[in-house]
Amino acid sequence: MNPIRVVVVGGGFAAVKFAKTLRKKLPASGCEILLFNRENHLVFHPLLADVAGASINADAAAAPLRQMLPGVGCRTERVQRIDLRSSEIEFDDGTGALSRLHFDHVIVACGAETNLGIIPGMTDHAFGFKVMRDAIDLRQHIVHEMEHAEAATDPELRRWHLNFIIVGAGFSGVELAGEVNELVRSSSRFYRNFRREDIVVTMVHSQAQILPEVAPALRDFARKKMEKAGVTIMLNCRAVAATHEGVELEGGRMLKGGTIACTIGTAPSALIQALDVAKERGRIRTVPDMRIEGQTNAWAIGDCAYIVNAFDNKPSPTTAQFAERQGRQAALNLVRVLKGEPTQPFRFKVLGQLCSIGGYQAVAEMFGLRVSGLLAWFLWRGVYLFKLPTWSRRIKVALDWFWDLLFPRDLSFLNTDATQYLNRAYFRPGDFIHRQGEVARVFSVIEDGEVEILQTTEESPEAKILAVLGKGDFFGEGALLGSRPHETSVRARTPVRLRQVSSAFFSETAANFPPFRELLSKAVARRSGDLWQRLPLGKSILDREPLSSLLEPLSANVLSKNSTLTDAIRILRESPSGELLILDENKHLWGTLDRNDLFQIVARVTVTPTDQQEGLMRHKLTEFVPANPLSVALSDSTAVASATMLARGLTWLPVVQSKDDTRPIGILRGERVANRVVQTMARTEADRARAAS
Ligand SMILES: Cc1cc2nc3c(=O)[nH]c(=O)nc-3n(C[C@H](O)[C@H](O)[C@H](O)COP(=O)(O)OP(=O)(O)OC[C@H]3O[C@@H](n4cnc5c(N)ncnc54)[C@H](O)[C@@H]3O)c2cc1C
Repeated sequence: MNPIRVVVVGGGFAAVKFAKTLRKKLPASGCEILLFNRENHLVFHPLLADVAGASINADAAAAPLRQMLPGVGCRTERVQRIDLRSSEIEFDDGTGALSRLHFDHVIVACGAETNLGIIPGMTDHAFGFKVMRDAIDLRQHIVHEMEHAEAATDPELRRWHLNFIIVGAGFSGVELAGEVNELVRSSSRFYRNFRREDIVVTMVHSQAQILPEVAPALRDFARKKMEKAGVTIMLNCRAVAATHEGVELEGGRMLKGGTIACTIGTAPSALIQALDVAKERGRIRTVPDMRIEGQTNAWAIGDCAYIVNAFDNKPSPTTAQFAERQGRQAALNLVRVLKGEPTQPFRFKVLGQLCSIGGYQAVAEMFGLRVSGLLAWFLWRGVYLFKLPTWSRRIKVALDWFWDLLFPRDLSFLNTDATQYLNRAYFRPGDFIHRQGEVARVFSVIEDGEVEILQTTEESPEAKILAVLGKGDFFGEGALLGSRPHETSVRARTPVRLRQVSSAFFSETAANFPPFRELLSKAVARRSGDLWQRLPLGKSILDREPLSSLLEPLSANVLSKNSTLTDAIRILRESPSGELLILDENKHLWGTLDRNDLFQIVARVTVTPTDQQEGLMRHKLTEFVPANPLSVALSDSTAVASATMLARGLTWLPVVQSKDDTRPIGILRGERVANRVVQTMARTEADRARAAS
């Protein structure tokens, strides 16, 4: 008889314990076990803070699955889909094609993903803290920041480099803050340009206490000890945004710092989201033996599963302790199913909790006992040493810890700049992206939002807005191409998301890829600064001309976010100008559409000739039209609005009430602006001729 095939998706605590237990219970001749994990190792999360704080090396906290799981087939392909109906998984076979594989039983144990997107700007400016890469990158960055602080001559810039912000004060936040604090303070003696007291490590937490899961006495101990070691703890403080400057707190206060590590925010992985089964807050619902609700051969364990603990009838927390127990018991239940025996509900009594807080201190609750301080720290190290999956890892970690007791932490900095080509950045309204006179470091493309281009001159030292740029526009190329400081400042007008490439990569591409360079040179020439240098009279006319005097009133024909393609065709047919605004439910500007856009959209929609009317009606405009079109505010000058149109090659532009109130009040047409300039010039010329005669 063919052996049955058990496929395990994931290679974390739950999956490894499952595969290990099942392999012991069932011989390879009767059961093939295939484990798919994106990495070829298990990440020992409890030691990630030690990796970030440089007290152990990264490889000590990663155990190779192949060596840990003899008799189990370990694969590193990413599973793309689990088809429960046909009992197959679909995975990327590395060539770009998808392969399918049949299973008799599948164990879904793919954990959860970090979701920094819960706070605007965190994805762009903060380090997550979940995978090994996060810990390694963070450690590199911290050392880099100390090197920058050593080189900084401006005291404010030095302070910024020496401010380290950790968002969240649960277990991982506290352990990380303790380790970062230890690394930076103990290393300060090797630097000349700053002292230990100049360093600020801040932990920001939205609740009233750190470590909400542990007993009040232990968490008070942890808080006091950490504060004594120099960690600033900000409680009842909610981070609302992250930018290049630092973290914005609720109420508007800005916590400045060059390092942000975010330990909060998780989301189910795309694989789980796509799985069509019952879920509870994104986790897969299971029956008491851990099979997925409604399934006979599919099981879910670990962080991705919603499993009620029969011990206290509460949902299992997302911890390694629980994930391991679930893995073990799911394997035993599967063996029972194969033998035709009744399964057992998941039941587990928590053994205890341990949290290291840095500086050879920890807090622990084990078997009803509460311990804190040095003793708890030894307990913490002992327990985790014992819990490491292989003897080679235990010895490695023990040696690293021993080394850390005798020698200072390793400050070698492996320069990875060459590969850091592409970045993302987030700015709040009013934030400067760069200032006039600064050295150009990046080339930026606007992914979302609007920015203002500002300039000061000797004649007008107060910054004047020259133009507005929106989605798809770019800036920074002029200074980079000309190897000169920025001639204008750029400020965010709305929340802005940018894609940025480093100056080195930009210069290399521009030098070796002539079409790109040509495109940029044309853009530089089109930009308003040059334009007004060529047309100074035009600028002085437009500066005096209020925008309201050139405004074309809004047409009664507008579209809404619910309009379909059929609505758009009908209304555009009735609209003499051929341009329409799309409004949201609050009558704010949501999008724009003209005949040309509509033609392009209809050409993309595939409908059969018989189904033409119906087919177009089915499609909403919002499927095709990008949101947040470029607009100018009534308070902007006509010169700004004109430069904005010229920089983009637009023939018309919507005008809204103000930057904050985006209800449209009219349309500005390039043709009308040009007419006014020509008329005024002709009138001035005629006046001059009359005066001369
Ligand atoms: C910084 C940190 C510190 C922690 N400290 C502790 C602690 O001290 N004590 C404690 O009990 N818990 C701790 N935890 C929680 C604990 O690590 C998790 O609860 C535990 O890892 C969950 O195990 P899991 O097997 O469900 O998922 P994971 O360990 O996250 O493993 C999931 C695996 O699935 C893989 N995967 C995902 N999708 C796919 C796919 N489509 N195809 C192939 N593979 C895929 C991933 O690559 C990953 O290797 C900590 C967590 C973090 C982040």
